[in-house]
Amino acid sequence: MQPGSRICVTLTERDATAAIREMERLSNMADLFEIRADYLDDPSPEPLAARKPKPLIYTLRRDGEGGRFRGSDDDRLALFARALAAGFDYIDIEDDAPWRKLSAAGRGRLIVSHHDFARTPTDLFGIYRRLRESPADVIKIATMANSLYDAARIFDLLEKASGDGRRLAALAMGPMGMATRILGPSRGAPFTYAAARAGSEAAPGQIPVQDMVDLYRVGSIDRSTAIYGLIGRPTAHSLSPRVHNAAFAELEMNAVYIPFETDSLGSFFSLNNRVGGAGFSVTIPYKAEIVRLMDALDPTAEKIGAVNTVAIREERKIGYNTDAEGFVRPLERRIALRGKRAVVLGAGGAARAAAFALLERGVEVLVLSRNRERARELALGLGANCGGLEELARHDFDLLINATPVGMFPNVDESPAPAELLAGKIVYDLVYNPPETKLLREARGAGALAISGIEMFLEQAAAQFRIWTGVEPPKEAMRRALFAPNYTNSREFK
Ligand code: NAP
Repeated sequence: MQPGSRICVTLTERDATAAIREMERLSNMADLFEIRADYLDDPSPEPLAARKPKPLIYTLRRDGEGGRFRGSDDDRLALFARALAAGFDYIDIEDDAPWRKLSAAGRGRLIVSHHDFARTPTDLFGIYRRLRESPADVIKIATMANSLYDAARIFDLLEKASGDGRRLAALAMGPMGMATRILGPSRGAPFTYAAARAGSEAAPGQIPVQDMVDLYRVGSIDRSTAIYGLIGRPTAHSLSPRVHNAAFAELEMNAVYIPFETDSLGSFFSLNNRVGGAGFSVTIPYKAEIVRLMDALDPTAEKIGAVNTVAIREERKIGYNTDAEGFVRPLERRIALRGKRAVVLGAGGAARAAAFALLERGVEVLVLSRNRERARELALGLGANCGGLEELARHDFDLLINATPVGMFPNVDESPAPAELLAGKIVYDLVYNPPETKLLREARGAGALAISGIEMFLEQAAAQFRIWTGVEPPKEAMRRALFAPNYTNSREFK
């Protein structure tokens, strides 16, 4: 682990024995532990201090400070004094709490913290200046990010504090604060907070320590780490962080891939000015909107009218679309496409990329959608035929492509096409969660050649990786990461 890149795991157990067990389990991943003593049935610090495998913070938040402690201020001060005497390395007190009543010894091992669970206040610097007056060794400021502008201001604050020579653990909470949690230590924060496991988060947006260590490799991020990520909303269950981070790790590249959940593209680019990202994937709902913000477009993105990949080169934003290439590669590996007849179900972004790639390769394309008007628009623009979904049985085809979400988790018992139409066909389901959909099962059962959306997902990611790095991606490592059971979002991957 690099100096300055440190992970503090927050423990929210109800009894000391369980907290000690968690410390032992996680001591190879955590650099320090924060004991949320207000979660303990008995907040006595002594049993925990006696068994500490790493430095410890003793935190006792009141009701109304996001905590559970209901005792008086005097009770708190007495417990803080006991914690220090027992061997805790730090005590954490809210900025409006009576830290002035602490002994001189207590003040030297003090974290003074400010939380705002609703917003990132406009006078963030004012709060920092006020906390800076305290004798605290570490100042902690944790505020809710309601926009990536808020996360950008947290990075500004970290910059300011490192200029002042103060240790500031500043972070933004919520899904839009994720980048501050992952990049904070590389931008001057003395440490970043992580959850012991999914479901035990002490604050919104806290990332499980295993993800911090294995997925984001927070300990090895420094200022020269190349930053990539995903622009979208929502991003929490995207599989892209897994595959790209696995590729960087496999090739031992100093790079990280982060979900940037954002309320607007303007706030995303404002944040990116602070962190200096090198490339991004783009997902729903920004693939079309981002086109006009590009300084240049590659011809495929221009023709499809959507960007799913951005590379930043010499401060210019170049837009690409790897969905079409990602879609067609698994097909080209198996069959010669020219002259085939394909039916594409759906008329959204994935259908457009699929139809475009097929038409370019001399395939006759029929787009069928429940919304005929949308199918017509798509087909007219590209030179395909169109119709309603209910027409499927009336057409003969070689290739069936599902570009609707029908059959996707949790609706895994649905299929967009009757099994009796699938015999002898090539059936390609762009849905990748689950990897084997009902449509694909029935296709195999009917003797069809079945192709999973997983293949498209991996190929479009591999194409992004090539664009960003100029390096051939380690596809096997990427595939393995997709199915790794350990990460948080695996709960969603059935
Ligand atoms: P999209 O732009 O929202 O388009 C979805 C299309 O499906 C629309 O035409 C929509 O019709 C139609 N649709 C939605 N629900 C339907 C239903 N219950 N019955 C019939 N038609 C329905 O979404 P997208 O980005 O194209 O994605 C479509 C699917 O492809 C998703 O499952 C996505 O996960 C998958 N995908 C996979 C990859 C990959 O790498 N494998 C890449 C991109 C997308 P309306 O216009 O009437 O709503």
